[in-house]
Amino acid sequence: MESGEGGGSSSSPAADKTAPPPPPPPPLSRYESQKRRDWNTFLQYLRNHKPPLTLARCSGAHVIEFLKYLDQFGKTKVHEAGCAFFGQPNPPASCACLFRQAWGSLDALIGRLRAAFEENGGLPDSNPFAARPVRIYLREVRENQAKARGIPYEKKKRKRTAAAAAAVAGESSSNPPPPPPATAASSSAPDPPAGSSPSVS
Ligand SMILES: [Zn+2]
Repeated sequence: MESGEGGGSSSSPAADKTAPPPPPPPPLSRYESQKRRDWNTFLQYLRNHKPPLTLARCSGAHVIEFLKYLDQFGKTKVHEAGCAFFGQPNPPASCACLFRQAWGSLDALIGRLRAAFEENGGLPDSNPFAARPVRIYLREVRENQAKARGIPYEKKKRKRTAAAAAAVAGESSSNPPPPPPATAASSSAPDPPAGSSPSVS
């Protein structure tokens, strides 16, 4: 990462009486800049809300409403129960089902907004992003998408590593080390292309 602006001050002679110039602020990490962008998106959503809605009056129900609003920008096809491709991670043809935000994207988004709310002066007790209905909604989305897309989320991975560890307790030489528990990292990734992980064994 290069410091984009204001770097390279080696040419300016330092005056004795002044303190050395402060180092330029470190560039925002991807997470931080994404968090700031998400927060601004949410504030924008509140400004456009009808009837008008302020952050202080924002509840978990409003957060869910926001997540549903975001579905129209989603890139993840979630098959309806009546679709022929329901439960298929890699359908051979297209269908009329709608695109939505992938659960992993929503989950990561809520995590960033929850942090941003408190960083902007909100009290943890009144954090709408941490409200119980939001957690329940996310869980429903996850289960729904897992069924509709035939994609098991991290539940399976955990079971597998435990089973594998129990099965081959002694001879781990032939097995690669288990992947790190990257549930948090993987959930922050944007929509994974459907069916790109042939790791199901
Ligand atoms: Zn479909």
